[in-house]
Amino acid sequence: MINLFSYSTINKHKNTIKQINNSYKNIKDYPDLLLANQTKKIRNMIKTSGIKNKTILIEAFATLKEAIFRATNLELFDVQLLGGITLNDGNIAEMKTGEGKTLVALLPAYLNSLLNEGVHIITVNDYLAERDATLAKRIFSYLNIEIGLITQKTTRKERKEAYKYNITYITNSELGFDYLKDNMAIHQDDIIQQGFFYAIIDEVDSILIDEARTPLIISGNTKVQTNFYQNSEEVSKILQKNIDYSIDEKSKSIILTAQGISRCEAILKIDNLYDIQNPWIKYIINSLKAKELFLKNRDYIIKDEQITIVDEFTGRVMTGRRWSDGLHQAIEAKENIKIEAENKTLASITYQNLFLLYKKLSGMTGTAKTEEEEFNNIYKMKVVSIPTNQKCLRKDMPDLVYKNEYIKWKSIAHECLDMYKTGRPTLIGTTSISKSELLSKMLQELSIPHNLLNAKPENIAQESKIILEAGRKNTITIATNMAGRGTDIILGGSTEKIVEEEIKQYIKNSDNIKTNSNDEEVYSMIKKIKLQTKNDRNNIIKDENFLALQRTYTNLKEKYKKLCKSEKDYISQIGGLYVIGTERHESRRIDNQLRGRSGRQGDKGTSRFFLSLQDNLFRIFGGNKIENIVQSLNIENDTPIESIILTKSLDAAQKKVESYFYDIRKQLFEYDEVINNQRKAIYKERKKILTHVFTRDCVIEYGEQTIKEMLDIYLKDKRKEQTLKKVIKLLNIKANTTHLAEMSSLELRHYLNEQLRISYDLKEIYLEQLRPGLIRQLEKYYLLQQIDQGWQEHIEKMGLLKEYIGWRSYGQQDPLIEYKNEAFNLFINMITYIRQTVIYLVMRSRLII
Ligand code: ADP
Repeated sequence: MINLFSYSTINKHKNTIKQINNSYKNIKDYPDLLLANQTKKIRNMIKTSGIKNKTILIEAFATLKEAIFRATNLELFDVQLLGGITLNDGNIAEMKTGEGKTLVALLPAYLNSLLNEGVHIITVNDYLAERDATLAKRIFSYLNIEIGLITQKTTRKERKEAYKYNITYITNSELGFDYLKDNMAIHQDDIIQQGFFYAIIDEVDSILIDEARTPLIISGNTKVQTNFYQNSEEVSKILQKNIDYSIDEKSKSIILTAQGISRCEAILKIDNLYDIQNPWIKYIINSLKAKELFLKNRDYIIKDEQITIVDEFTGRVMTGRRWSDGLHQAIEAKENIKIEAENKTLASITYQNLFLLYKKLSGMTGTAKTEEEEFNNIYKMKVVSIPTNQKCLRKDMPDLVYKNEYIKWKSIAHECLDMYKTGRPTLIGTTSISKSELLSKMLQELSIPHNLLNAKPENIAQESKIILEAGRKNTITIATNMAGRGTDIILGGSTEKIVEEEIKQYIKNSDNIKTNSNDEEVYSMIKKIKLQTKNDRNNIIKDENFLALQRTYTNLKEKYKKLCKSEKDYISQIGGLYVIGTERHESRRIDNQLRGRSGRQGDKGTSRFFLSLQDNLFRIFGGNKIENIVQSLNIENDTPIESIILTKSLDAAQKKVESYFYDIRKQLFEYDEVINNQRKAIYKERKKILTHVFTRDCVIEYGEQTIKEMLDIYLKDKRKEQTLKKVIKLLNIKANTTHLAEMSSLELRHYLNEQLRISYDLKEIYLEQLRPGLIRQLEKYYLLQQIDQGWQEHIEKMGLLKEYIGWRSYGQQDPLIEYKNEAFNLFINMITYIRQTVIYLVMRSRLII
């Protein structure tokens, strides 16, 4: 559906689009060299009149449109230009599947890269990053713009280079981990990122919404607190359900009652269960979870004396995986098995805060409008719906609702059978791997051939191949929700890909062609054929065997072009791709994603959801209302219900779920904002030290600050001598306290500052004599080490604080305010502690030879 807003946006930019197209017509005649020169020309234009100038956007977009045409033979549509303008404005372009978002991203990427600060294009997986970077490289080779690519395989050295390129393709998780690692670097040279200037996020809803609930974490091992686990386990056995604690099924959590809290404190003989310095509560909650929510032979099994997780969807045993935050250890205690070391968070960040580091942010996806409020509130990005290039012909049929799940799945299987008989390609989306496997079994029983796809990372490349096939005649594809995202379903199949496959086989089987059949060589040969077929002047090859191969290629292409076309015509006649949803998802956005698989670029298509009243969404969020409606309709068991009132109630239930999850994300964001500001401050200080040559200044500053703080305490405490002694000891100086006690506060401060410097000079001279340059290394080492250690301990305390605040202030004052106050105190304590320890260590450093 195109809303009024998008029309007004188009009108607003109509003129600009017209000008881009006019300019494009002029550029068309440019020889390659002159086209490449555009980059230099536009860079100069930016220097004189700034990047916001409209003429510059017009010139850059037109130039890129021509580069795309030369590299791919595709001519950008006006709606794609509109998408590019939206992204350049720092907003979200909602463009349906198949509208060509990959190319759209290149428009603002080109323009912004001309500022030489680096543009990042973020994708959800390595496969897409690689695929899109390859295409971008081809296009940008016409414009002298360098493209970087970072995947899991890229080494740190290569990454550093890749970040320096004009445009860099990278996944969200690689970007995040690089950021965290950079902020743990010990040497300046180890820092690889160049800053956060402009990012274009592909599948933006998936990254900023679906993945926003779990932060990225870098962790290391810690010591095992065996006693804590064992004692908590004992306590959990004593505590009684519904008296000392209750269980919240919706969020899978345990809540202690006031009585439960007192009971724990009494048994453990402690004053405060929520004491940050003595963190019992975390262990108690984990032990209760282990007791109530994690069951042997359902959630885990014991194999070789180890707790082994069983995947809840597939039932597969996940050897080597462990639950986090001490839960695994709590279960080990319950089962009386050796307790393994816990992982400790060394650094972490949420995607929300990672992406807010960018000066300018934009994103694209097929589905974002339903989450517009969230994008606007948190990221200050508007969602602009870009109209489709051709009118969307997909029919979204009303939901069919069955009374129970079994009948629902049976009906879906039969629907697949009907479709298979007519040859209509059908895609069935499922919400979990186990459900997709269940359906697959049912289809096997009905002897319906089908492809089964799930979102395992190792299958991603294979997935896109299956998705490419999913639009062919007689093809039934079962896919879990996220599988194959980013790859189009083409009705009748993609001629190019089919021919590529055929020719690959041909090359491998041919005796005349010299290759050792390795995929890369075959691929490069196909590339040569394509170039020669396009009459590329630089690539004429006259070898006989090669020419024969080229003829085979051309013939195959002719053959499959016809075949695919007639197949597409047939499929269109019978209605196009049919998409079946098997459950409403936790947001309408994800339902729309599934629907959007069908009806691309003016194709025909249909979508329909098959639901049951036993579906999770309705069971947990639906309430009695839906149940009552069904009772009042009084319908036979296996007849589906197609009722407007029911659909409305289902919509309402789904909206309830959407806002439930939005609230969770919002809360997470608000809480994370506190630690985020602290993280920024710490990382800034760290960077200052790392880049500072003369670190003595930093240490002296820490010393003076410490003196000031301790003197404040001294004066406030009516000049208690012990504080003074403490300062003297900490600074490792010699002074007479009685003498000091007689000084005014200003004198005292000056005196101690002076002593600090003198003492530091002596230390420096001493060390300098023994080993020149050592003192600077020591300073840097102590500063970084203490900051890192302090920060890691702080992260842990903040985590505990968040948990405690949640429990402690149930029904009382605003927990967020309480959290902020306490977080501030913790932070100040950490900083003070870091300063003091650094001074203490530096003043006592010696060289033992
Ligand atoms: P999306 O990410 O929006 O689903 P893609 O970027 O994957 O879409 O592109 C889908 C298909 O459309 C690709 O095969 C691409 O080559 C093709 N395409 C993109 N832009 C154009 C265009 N202007 N004209 C013709 N085909 C296009």
